[in-house]
Order: sequence, then structure tokens, then C-alpha cells
Amino acid sequence: MAKRLGVLTSGGDAPGMNAAVRAVVRAAINRGAEVFAIYEGYQGMIDGGPRIRPMSWEDVGGILHRGGTIIGTARCDAFRTREGRRTAAQNLLNHGIDALVVIGGDGSLTGADTLRQEWTELVGELVQTGGVSPQVAEEHAYLSIAGLVGSIDNDMYGTDMTIGADTALHRITDAVDALTSTAASHQRAFVVEVMGRRCGYLAVMSAIATGAEWVLVPESPPDLDDWEDHMVSVMREGQRMGRRDNIVIVAEGAQDRHGKPITCGYVRDVLEERLGEDVRITVLGHVQRGGSPSAYDRILSTIMGVEAVDSALTAGPTDEPVLIGIQDNKLIRQPLMYCVAKTREINEALAVCDFERAMELRGRGYRNAFRIMRTLVRALPHPPKEGQRRLRIAIVNAGGAAPGMNAAVRVAVRLTLDKGHIPLGVIRGFRGLISGHLEEYRWESVSGWAPQGGSILGTSRKVPDGRDLYAVARTLEEHKIDALLIIGGWAGYEAAYQLVKARDTFPSFSIPIVCVPATINNNVPAAEFSIGADTALNNITEVVDKIKQSAVASSRVFVVEVMGRYCGYLALMSDLATGAERVYLHEEGVCLKDLEQDIAMLRDGFTHGKRLGLMIRNEYANPLYTTQFLAALFEEEGGDLFDVRISVLGHLQQGGDPQPFDRILATRMATRAVEYIEQSLIGDEAAPDGLPAAAGLGQVSGELRVTPLEDIMRMSDDKVQRPKQQWWMSLRPVTRMMSFRTG
Ligand code: ATP
Repeated sequence: MAKRLGVLTSGGDAPGMNAAVRAVVRAAINRGAEVFAIYEGYQGMIDGGPRIRPMSWEDVGGILHRGGTIIGTARCDAFRTREGRRTAAQNLLNHGIDALVVIGGDGSLTGADTLRQEWTELVGELVQTGGVSPQVAEEHAYLSIAGLVGSIDNDMYGTDMTIGADTALHRITDAVDALTSTAASHQRAFVVEVMGRRCGYLAVMSAIATGAEWVLVPESPPDLDDWEDHMVSVMREGQRMGRRDNIVIVAEGAQDRHGKPITCGYVRDVLEERLGEDVRITVLGHVQRGGSPSAYDRILSTIMGVEAVDSALTAGPTDEPVLIGIQDNKLIRQPLMYCVAKTREINEALAVCDFERAMELRGRGYRNAFRIMRTLVRALPHPPKEGQRRLRIAIVNAGGAAPGMNAAVRVAVRLTLDKGHIPLGVIRGFRGLISGHLEEYRWESVSGWAPQGGSILGTSRKVPDGRDLYAVARTLEEHKIDALLIIGGWAGYEAAYQLVKARDTFPSFSIPIVCVPATINNNVPAAEFSIGADTALNNITEVVDKIKQSAVASSRVFVVEVMGRYCGYLALMSDLATGAERVYLHEEGVCLKDLEQDIAMLRDGFTHGKRLGLMIRNEYANPLYTTQFLAALFEEEGGDLFDVRISVLGHLQQGGDPQPFDRILATRMATRAVEYIEQSLIGDEAAPDGLPAAAGLGQVSGELRVTPLEDIMRMSDDKVQRPKQQWWMSLRPVTRMMSFRTG
């Protein structure tokens, strides 16, 4: 008999739960199992009857973009009792279910583990009372469990991200951006309370993303008793520098170092009294957990859902239940109750004001983000220290515009000034370096840049060669440039490499050259994510959601063309985020046999009631099988079953305000870049061969790494301008599993 698996959502809802349910249902079917949804969490498990329902492939169609959870969630006191759990066991066995995927918080996961531990006893009792036959009891001798964490708070130990946290960050960032514009118009301060219970993740990340003035979180209270004075003096200094808006973000669990809660009302009173500002409070409340999930939450939920099914279906009687998490951009399985215990330890540490322990348990990513936030809010222009060498750092954007470039430039400028150096903005990319168009930037030059899309400096795809190199060398000499910070895509890296190769001819190129990856294509080696790619992915996801809605009433296939040049990142990820039937990648090529199969799949689907087909094609997937060609082929072969439309998304993918992830990535990388330049010129980070470094920064396995430019070039497939190894190709089987039923 096929294994039967139940899926439930429990505790507070979180955007992305539907994507997880969809993935669990489809992965289970593909693995040959039968799958049941347990409606309304543990309440449904106890109620049984219609609240436990078999799910088909189609039942989870069209839910990927929906917030909340379509199978309902609840808190259920009866499940906390042994009697309640016995009834739940009876109901599960009525359907032959002995594997569960539970999507919820630490309470829900604890409940699942309790049920698992009691299973043998409970089933024994049910046999004695005649509720369950001895044969059924024998067939379902143990219960296996896999847990996914659904929580906007991102407060669980054992995973870098929980389902819903990224979406909540989007909601908060949008709201704070809106407040910032009104605050600036009226020269007003806003104190904004964000959710997170005892976790400051949403507060810290939204503060970085929006360029807030101050942030208060539970895990790292101000380390001074007169923190209020310190906050006010920093904000006063900001006003003196010309800042018109003041935003303070307060996590709902914020406290001082003695454990006394810091409320928004208190912060407002302090600012009104000591800063003399007009202050308003905004409590963002439940809008933070609502709405359509972000692309990241859809993708994360999908890949974690598949992993949970694999774990629950293969667990043996002695295997501990696992929590599926993501760490350093890799899926991991960890003992469920260990993670629950550690999560509780954080809360206990906070309760006794052991902040060091709490920060340690929150993990490296959070600690680093907090450190960066602290550096940024305290950063101010400083004169060089006595005897300090004053560096002149040129900052240039290169390649196509990528959302988040401005956030990176802003941070680079401010930290350069903070360290007593001089930042110079290069206008219009390498064209500006050729024509000598540079400007010294001041603190206020980059005010308000964090949320803005495009490239305010201006960018170009120009890669200098031949005579251009003379011109660049002259500019660098004339402006006495000590280091070059390039924020851009492939063109930026190529340009940097041209300079490095010509170092023998032009001594002025023998300066540190640091590249920060910023391109929506995400095609730069030694960096898992480049600035701008997440925004582009969300842009695509939003538009495709609309395209799908437009087709609800008709039988239609859409061929959607997305950017990326030869790199299929945007295509594959948008396939995962939108639930497309098929994705065409240059990495895999497109051949006639595949197209025949796709036509057969579409014909079969539409014959059996399908109303929408979505095919995503990377712009350079194949030079001859163009988007138009695919559309014509499907139209002809679809006959009366469906018609076909083309949607070439074009430049909207590159536009728009940067999403929080891109702003945060930009902030982290720009901070590291300035540190690196300073260290390689003044400190101890000189390149091993004695030459000033030429390197690229990139997030790899959760760390920001510095990779020598030569190595980056070796890791590249130059002909197609992408890395030879692309981590995200490992997600390809998941996209297939979500779109084709094979079980
Ligand atoms: P959130 O993070 O949104 O609060 P949660 O899963 O932690 O989610 P809880 O209210 O703690 O939310 O738990 C949800 C449900 O899980 C409870 O209503 C109860 O049915 C079950 N549950 C929680 N803790 C236990 C427990 N110790 N034993 C049995 N069941 C539990």
C-alpha cells in the first residue's frame, strides 16, 4: 500500500505556507505516496471527518501566490492533552496516515514530537478499546515527522530563514519607505514598531534596508544607561548634516539592559523632549504578516517542502524527527527537538538579560547584520586621524543598472567619510573614468539613496581597451586615486581585469581594485547572489502573477521571456516562484524532442481541463528556437485546445525600488569593500605577491569572501559570460517535480 502522509499548518499564519503545502502535496504524489491535508491545524486532527481530506495534484494549483494558508491554521488546547492526542492518532489511523509534515512555530513542532513519542502507547490503547485493529496498528507502528518553520519573526534556531520572514520584511520596508518621504517633507521623526516578538531580526534588517537612524532590539539593548542621550546626539548630528527625516525602528520586544521594555511611546517622549522634533508613532501591526509571498518565500517553501517529504517518507522507527532549515544557502536537516530547545534557550537568556548568550544563539548572520547596523547609524564624517594616510577612493557603477546599486554607493561613501577618507563618485561608469568625470562626494550627496532604483551615479557597459586605457590612467593620476571600487556586473569585472592586465604599462593601475557584484543576471562567479537579482525576480513574479490572472477565463498558454543573457538564474527561479509548466535555459539548450514532449504535455493538460499554461524562456536559451518560434509552434500544435500569447518582460525587470534583500546585500558588500580597501592600503591585507589586490567580493556559503580577480576569471565561462559552476542548477529537479506529475 502507498505510504500516506498528512500535512498541516499550525500556529500563526505566514506568507509562503501555501507554497509549502503545494510542494509537500506534489512531492509526495511524485514519490508515489498519498497525501492528506489536515485542515485547521491540530484542531482538524482532533475533529477528523471532513477536516482530513485527500489532496490531488490540482487541489494545490493556483495557490502559490496567495498569502496565509488555504488549509487553515489554529491554536488548539485540546491537543495539549493526552486524550486529545489519542483522538488525533485515531483520526490519522482512520486514513492510514503515519507520516506528517508540520508547518508551524516551535509550539506546533513540539506538539508533533509529543504525538510521535506517545504514538506506540496511544495506538496500543486504541487497539484495546477497539478503535484500531491490531493489523492497522502493526502496519503503522511508528509516526514519522518533518517540521518546517512558518513564522514571520525568523526566531527559530537551526534555520537562517523561516517561511514568511522575507515577505514581512518587504511589507515593513515598503511602509517605512512611505513614512520616510512624508517624514522628510515635514521634517518629522517617526517611531515605527515592527513585529518579531522576542527576535529583532525584522527590526535590524528593515533598519538596514531603509537607512533608519536608530534601531532598538531585544537581544542587544543599548549598552549604556544613558542610551537616550546617545541616540539623541547621533540624531542631532544627522540633522546638522542636513537630514530631514528621522526614523527609529523599535522591535516589539525591545528592552533596555535591565530588561525593562522600551516602548514606542517612551522613545517618542525622549525625542520630543530632547530633540525638539515633531514625532509620530506608527505600529505596523498585522499588515506585516499579510499579502502575497515574496519570490524568496515561495522558493524557500517549495524546496523545503520537497525536502520535508523526502525526510518524512524515508524515516525509520528510530530516526529522530527533523527540522528542515536553510543554512548558508544550503538545505539542512537537524534534530527537531534540539532546535526547539535551543530556541527556548534564547528566550530564557533574554528573560535573564544574558544578551551575549542570546546573540550567540541567534547566529552569525544576525550578529553581523547587527554589527553593520550599529556601524552605520554611528558613522559620521571624520577628519583623518593624526598621521593617517587619507585615501581617495573612486566609486564607479558598471554594466546594466541593477536595483541596489545606489544603496551600495551610499554606504561606501558614508563609511569612506567616517574613516577619514575621501570618496569620489565616477559619473556614467567607465565612460566617466575615460573622460575624467569624477566628483568628490560629501555626506549629504547620497542622502535618500538607499531606496532608489537604477543608478544615480550613472552606469555604462563600456569596457576600456586600447587608447581608453591611457585616458583612464590619466584620470586616476589627475585625481590621485588610491583605490577603485567597482559596483557592477560582467562589464565591471572585465573592465577591472583590463586594468590589472595593463599594470605593467600604467603604474596608476597598481592600486587596489575591488569589484562588488551588482547585476540582475546573477551571472558573476564567486558570488551566489548579486545585487539586483532579487528585485528582478520579484518584478518578474509580480507580473507573471498578473498575467496568470488575466488568463483565468480563457484556455491560454503564455510564453514569457525573461532576461539573464546566457544565465538562466532568473528563468529558473521565476519558474519556481510562479509555478510555470516549463523553463527553457541556455545551460540545457532546447531541442526538438523536448518541444514535442512539451506540446504533448500541454495538449494532455488542456484536454483534461487545464486552463493556463506558463512557459518561461530565458532570453538567450536558443538562438533559433526564439520566443516567437515557440509561440508559433505551440499555437499551431495546440489547435482548438488553447491559444498562445507572448510576453517579453523587458526592462521592467531591471527597474523599480530595490527589494530589502538587495539593499541589505549592497550594504554588507559595500561595508566589506571599504574595510578591505583600507586594510590592503593601510593595514595587513596586501596581496600575497606584493601587488595591490584586485578582487571580487561575493557571498559564498553564507560568508562574504574576497576572491582574487584572476581566480574569478578562471571560474568564468567567458564565451557565455557566466560561472562554470552555478549553484542554483541543483534546484532544477525541484522545478521538474513541481510541474510534472510522475508518481
Ligand atoms: P507561532 O510561532 O505562530 O506562535 P506556534 O506553533 O509556536 O506558532 P503555539 O500556539 O505555541 O504556536 O502552538 C500551536 C499549537 O500547537 C497549539 O495550539 C497546540 O495545539 C500545539 N502545541 C503547542 N505546544 C504544544 C505542546 N507542548 N504539546 C502539545 N501540543 C502543543
